[in-house]
Amino acid sequence: MPELPEMEHYRSQLSPLLCGQRITGATVNREATINEPADVFIAALIGKTILFVERKGKHLLFHLDDGHRLHLHLMLGGWLAYGEQGPKKDSHFQVILTFGNGSSLYFGGLRLGYLHRITAKAAIEQLKELGPDPFDPRLSLEAFRKRLSGKRGKLKTTLTDQRFLAGIGNSYSDEICFDANLHPAAAANGLDDSQTERLYNSMRKVLTVAKEAGGYMEHPLTPDDTVTGGYNEQFRVYDRKGEPCYECGTEIKFETLTGRKMFYCPNCQREA
Ligand SMILES: [Zn+2]
Repeated sequence: MPELPEMEHYRSQLSPLLCGQRITGATVNREATINEPADVFIAALIGKTILFVERKGKHLLFHLDDGHRLHLHLMLGGWLAYGEQGPKKDSHFQVILTFGNGSSLYFGGLRLGYLHRITAKAAIEQLKELGPDPFDPRLSLEAFRKRLSGKRGKLKTTLTDQRFLAGIGNSYSDEICFDANLHPAAAANGLDDSQTERLYNSMRKVLTVAKEAGGYMEHPLTPDDTVTGGYNEQFRVYDRKGEPCYECGTEIKFETLTGRKMFYCPNCQREA
């Protein structure tokens, strides 16, 4: 599932392409992806202009000039493409939005994911439980320490709890724990000061590197996009079961933790 780096990459790539663009056409091939009858959705969108694109955790909000938002969550398997032509047949996409400049935004893989047209008020209501963004300037080390000390769960479970922090999922929680030399099954409220500081710094470092590398999405966003997915080859523990740790050579271990996949180096990440 795309996480903060992937969604932030989409936001930064799409903002200059979409802001100020007027929607001139919309196609809905799967009505379950949207939240109202397709004809209502299409009629409401045509003629509206996208003012800006906002990211909240793993969610994207396309702000429209009538005060509504298009609320996108890609969940598992969702992806985006933009251009004058889609990378696959149009029927492959659940929703397509076409703009005055002749280009379209293609929403693919939205089986669990969705694209809902909602009011500004509904957007606030729907996202009110999200915790702070990991890069929120108000989330100082002290604020992070305080939040963490109130959590009872394991480190990985806590990092992926969207009410604790918005935007971290299965992949980057493992990468952050590895970078901080902390066992993902350690008790979140049992870290000492230096461990907490390592976790905080690793969180921002790993997410920054992944963002700048273009995240891990496999599909290019535009035909000439060579950036998206650049982080794919850089995972150090995630999805590397049985492979040697880049730091010490020990085999990367795989376990499940309350239903989530968990990859870690049993030698580098001992502090449980
Ligand atoms: Zn190791």
